[in-house]
Amino acid sequence: LSKLSPSDNNNIACIALDVPVENGFDFLAPQISANDIGRLAIVPFGKRKAAGIIVDIAESSNVPPGKLRSLERIVYDLPKLSALDLALFRFCSGYYHHPLGQVILNALPVQFRSSRPFRLPLVTYYQLTRAGREQDAAPIGRALTQRHILERLSGGLLADNVAIAGLSRGKIALQALLEKKCIERVAPGKGVFTAAASPLYALNTGQSDVVARIVAALGHYQPFLLTGITGSGKTEVYLAAMRQVLQKGEQVLVLVPEINLTPQLEAQFRARFPQTRMVSLHSHLARAPRTLGWLEAQSGHAQIVLGTRLAVFTPMPRLGLIVIDEEHDASYKQQEGLRYSARDVAVYRARLADCPVVLGSATPSLESYFNAEHSGKGLRYTALALTQRAIPSATLPVVRLLDMNRERLHDGLSETLLVALRTRLAKHEQSLLFINRRGYAPALVCRQCAWMPECPHCTAHLVFHKSDARLRCHHCGQQTRVPPHCAKCGSADLAPAGQGTQRIMELIAAHFPDSRIARVDRDSLRARGAAQRIFDAAHKGEIDILIGTQMLAKGHDFPKLTLVGVLNADAAMFSADFRAPERLFSQLVQVAGRAGRAGLKGEVLVQTSFPAHPLYAAVQEQDFTRFARLQLEERRLSGMPPFSHLALLRVEARAAGQALKFAGAALELGKAHAAGVALYDAVPAPLEKKGGWERAQVLVQSRSRTALQRFIGDWRPQIAAAAPRSTRWIIDVDPSEV
Ligand code: ADP
Ligand code: ZN
Ligand code: ZN
Repeated sequence: LSKLSPSDNNNIACIALDVPVENGFDFLAPQISANDIGRLAIVPFGKRKAAGIIVDIAESSNVPPGKLRSLERIVYDLPKLSALDLALFRFCSGYYHHPLGQVILNALPVQFRSSRPFRLPLVTYYQLTRAGREQDAAPIGRALTQRHILERLSGGLLADNVAIAGLSRGKIALQALLEKKCIERVAPGKGVFTAAASPLYALNTGQSDVVARIVAALGHYQPFLLTGITGSGKTEVYLAAMRQVLQKGEQVLVLVPEINLTPQLEAQFRARFPQTRMVSLHSHLARAPRTLGWLEAQSGHAQIVLGTRLAVFTPMPRLGLIVIDEEHDASYKQQEGLRYSARDVAVYRARLADCPVVLGSATPSLESYFNAEHSGKGLRYTALALTQRAIPSATLPVVRLLDMNRERLHDGLSETLLVALRTRLAKHEQSLLFINRRGYAPALVCRQCAWMPECPHCTAHLVFHKSDARLRCHHCGQQTRVPPHCAKCGSADLAPAGQGTQRIMELIAAHFPDSRIARVDRDSLRARGAAQRIFDAAHKGEIDILIGTQMLAKGHDFPKLTLVGVLNADAAMFSADFRAPERLFSQLVQVAGRAGRAGLKGEVLVQTSFPAHPLYAAVQEQDFTRFARLQLEERRLSGMPPFSHLALLRVEARAAGQALKFAGAALELGKAHAAGVALYDAVPAPLEKKGGWERAQVLVQSRSRTALQRFIGDWRPQIAAAAPRSTRWIIDVDPSEV
C-alpha cells in the first residue's frame, strides 16, 4: 500500500507515548514545525488523553486520513528536549530493544507524564553581589527577612521561590535587597564561579598527572578508566577536573551508585564550590524538588548534577564532563523495565556530547578493565591509575585468612576475631563486621526433621527476623509470624540456622556488653534520616563496632577504623553466576579499604573454610591487576564477557511449567535465524519462582555485538507475536545476573 497524503497544509506529528508499542503514533498537527520536535504534546488516546513527546514530523502517514486524529495541544510552557537528548533516548531504545515512548516518558519527571496541565513555576535566580557578601557592611539594619535571604544566598545562587520559602513578606524583602544592590539576577549559565579560596589539599604527583590527562581531553570525547586503590584520593581528582569544567561555564554530571553516599559527596562538593548551583537527583527525592532539579539542569542553571542511575538522562545543554564513581557497582544496572546500564549509557552520552567521561573504581568491572587494557579499535578506554594512598601514613591494611576448619569457634565467630575485637576496644579504635545477610538467621530449621519454612510464592527459605518474631521473604516481601510448631512433624524445637546481621549483633553484644554497637542494613536504615545518624555517629567515633551488609562497604571513611572482620564470604563461591568471583573480590577489597585510612594500621580478618582458594590469595595481596588477569583468562576459556556479548530472554508465568514451555518455544523460533549467535537451552531461572511467578530463561551469546543486536531485532517481534497473554517476558541486553 502506498503512503496516503493528507491535504496540503496538514502536517503529521509523530508522538512517542508511554505504551509498549515499537513506534510512535501519528497525529494531525496543522501548525507544527520542525522546531517543535522534542516538545511535550497532549493527544487523544483511546477514550483518554495522553502526554507524549514529539519525536518527528512528516508530510504523510501510513494511517489512513480518515483514522488520523488531531493532536490536542503542544505544551509550550515546558522547555523541549534537545536533539542530543532525543539521540540518547533513541540509542537506548535501539540498543536495549525497548519502545522509544517508554524510554523517554519513564525518564521524565512524573508531572510531565500527565496529560493534566502542569504549571511551570517561573523562576528567577539570584546571587549575592559583592556588597551582599560583605553582610555586616550592608545596610540591612534589623530587617530580619532580608538577613535570612542573604544567609541562604551565601551558599550559592538560588531560585527566588527557594530563597524566600517560608519567609513572611519574602517577596518584598527580595525586592528591597535588589534595590540595595545586595543581590542580583542571574542569567542562565552565568552564575559566578568562585572556587573555594584554595583546594583543601595540594594534589600529589600521581593525582596531578591524572588530572592533567583528563583536563587535556576536555572538549572532546574520551573515556577514561581511573583505577585507584581505596583511599588513593579519587574524589580529589574528580574535584580538580570538575573545577576546570565549571570555570568554563560548563556542566558536570556525577553518578554515584548509592543514595546513601550522596549527602557525603554533596557536602564535599558544596564546600569546594560554594557558589556553584548543584542539584542532586535520586529516587528518594519528593516529586517537586526532583522536577525543579531537572529543570535547573536543563536550563543550565545547575552546573553540577549529582545523582544515581536515572540521573544519566537529565538534560544538560552544556555538558563538559561525566564522572562515574565506583563504576563496577551492580546498582548502575536497572533490573526492570528498560534494563539499561547507566555506566554504558553515560559513555554513549559523553560521545554524543563530545566530552570526556571518567569511570573510577578500585576494582573496575572486568569489561571496563578489558576495554582499557586492550586498546585498539572500537570503544576503548584510556587507563589512568593511582597507586598510592593519598595520606602518606595510610597504608593498605594487612589481610589475614582465618581457617574455619582450625579456628576455635564461638557461635560462628572465631577466637582470633574476638581477640582482635577486644584489642580494638581497649585501644578505643573502631571495628567493622561485614556479613552480607540481613535478618537474624537465613532460615529457621526443625531440629527433629530438618523442615525449613519456605516462602509460598518463591523458591526460597523465609528469613527469621527475631526483633518482631517474624519470618520474611527477602525476594517478595511476604511475611508471617514464626510458627509455634514444625509443619511437618509437629515438634516445637525450631532453631535459627546460619547468621544474619541481627544475630551477629546479639552475639557481639553478649561478648562485649560495654561496647557501643550499631547495625547497618536495609532494615535498620529504613527510618528517614537513620543512615545519616548512624554514619555521623561513626564518624565522630561514638560507635565502637559497626555490623552490617554491603551498605557499609562503599565509600565511607571512618578515621578510627582499624579492624574489618568478614564473616560469610564463602557463600559467593557456590553461586552459579560467572560474575560471582568478581563481585566477591570487589566487595572484599572495598570493605578492606575501610580500614586504616587515617594513619592507623588496618587489619582485615576473613573467616573462610577455603583458605587455599586463589581468589583469597588475590584478596590478600589486594592486587586487582593479578585478579583481573586470572579472571580474564577464565572468561576467555569459557567464552564469557568481555570475550562475548550476552542477552537473556526472561520469561515469567503463573501457571506451573508455562514459563519454561514458552521459553522453549521462543528458543525454537530463534534457532531458525541464529546466524553468528549461540543459543543455550531454555532453563529455569536461578530463583525459579518469585512472587508467585515461575521464571525461565534463554541465554544468547555472540562474539559480535552487531550479530547479537541483529538477532534480537528479528527475534523480538517473533516472541511478541507468539507470547500468550498469561506470560511476561523481556530481553535483557548485557544482563548483569545470569
Ligand atoms: P578514594 O575515593 O580513592 O578511596 P578518597 O578520595 O576518599 O579516596 O581519599 C582518601 C582520603 O585521602 C580522604 O580523606 C581525602 O580527604 C584524602 N586526600 C585525598 N587527596 C589528598 C592529598 N592530595 N593530600 C592529602 N590527603 C588527601
Ligand atoms: Zn519437624
Ligand atoms: Zn517470596
